[in-house]
Amino acid sequence: MATLLFHDRYLNYNFGPEHPFSPVRQKMTLDLLDALGHPVDAEVPPVASRDDVRRVHSEAFVAKVEAASNGTAPPRARSFGLNTGDVPVFEDMDAATRGLVGGTLHGARLLAEGQAKRVLQLGGGLHHAREEEASGFCVYNDLSVAIDVLREHDLRVAYVDVDVHHGDGVQFLHYDDPGVLTLSLHETGRALFPGTGGIEEIGKGPGRGFSLNVPLAPFTESESFLDAFERVVPYALSHFQPDVLVVQCGADAHFNDPLADLLLTTRAYERIFRRLLVLSDEHTDGRLLCTLGGGYRLDSVSRIWALLGLLIQDHDLPRTVPEGYRTRWEARLDDPLTPTLHDRERSFEVDRRASIEDENRRVSEQVLEQVASHWRHA
Ligand SMILES: [Zn+2]
Repeated sequence: MATLLFHDRYLNYNFGPEHPFSPVRQKMTLDLLDALGHPVDAEVPPVASRDDVRRVHSEAFVAKVEAASNGTAPPRARSFGLNTGDVPVFEDMDAATRGLVGGTLHGARLLAEGQAKRVLQLGGGLHHAREEEASGFCVYNDLSVAIDVLREHDLRVAYVDVDVHHGDGVQFLHYDDPGVLTLSLHETGRALFPGTGGIEEIGKGPGRGFSLNVPLAPFTESESFLDAFERVVPYALSHFQPDVLVVQCGADAHFNDPLADLLLTTRAYERIFRRLLVLSDEHTDGRLLCTLGGGYRLDSVSRIWALLGLLIQDHDLPRTVPEGYRTRWEARLDDPLTPTLHDRERSFEVDRRASIEDENRRVSEQVLEQVASHWRHA
């Protein structure tokens, strides 16, 4: 049994029609699940309070977001990462973001109190937000607020981030906590925002050895990504022995994504999600909290998150995307949609380059070597 979390208020997290982090991504995912015969029967979480947000964000930052949201701060003054191209200020931004934070937080509480095992938060995944800085489409860090609640319950948390961008905000908010293992697979920061996530970032103080980063080469394709995942994730989880697995399920590593250069297919995503479900059964007694995240090509992101929604509920995967759904959205988007849940076979030719696969393999091995001495002494 899985618990799905959603409320229409999530759609208020909206930077405007030209911005890629669009709530249309959730609307399409929900509509696709409905069209596939599995309408989302979501539990409605409460909105996070100011105090909830203050668990991980500074007073000055929260006050700034509030002032910017109600128009009492000068609209053009750039500070705390606000009023940028990535994070433009919109009316009621503070409340909209707390709406998303509330969902992820509620998922954490359900897990901590034993009221749920598998939770899918159909929003959030704002992994770039820092203690006092909005960044990369992220205002408040819902994942870190949720992790903080889990830590309050003395639970050891493994955080796995498969978004194509490094999960920098979550990593640095728990950088010195040996009770939180953060593990991010992403396109290397040498080529992609936010630029962090090198293998040498392994935590600080008592948290040294509990941050793992797997920076992958641009144009990494599915098999190489999965190889890196298998080399690092199961081993790290069996070493760390977490109580809960929190996963940011960004869909922007797909080959069609306009903002990054990895080349994953929907079949790779299916394998990743299935592995995460098995790994949570093996290591956390099934306690799993998944959020959404990045993903900017509507055709692929909606199919990937529908896959996630189906798999987490143990549903079979239908082959085709119903025509009514496609007609409806194609008319709105002026963009043809893939008629099957998975990508078309050979929808693009992979130029499998051995040098990329070798480099990723070497990086994966180095990641574990970097932390090995810390793990031996633990
Ligand atoms: Zn991303």
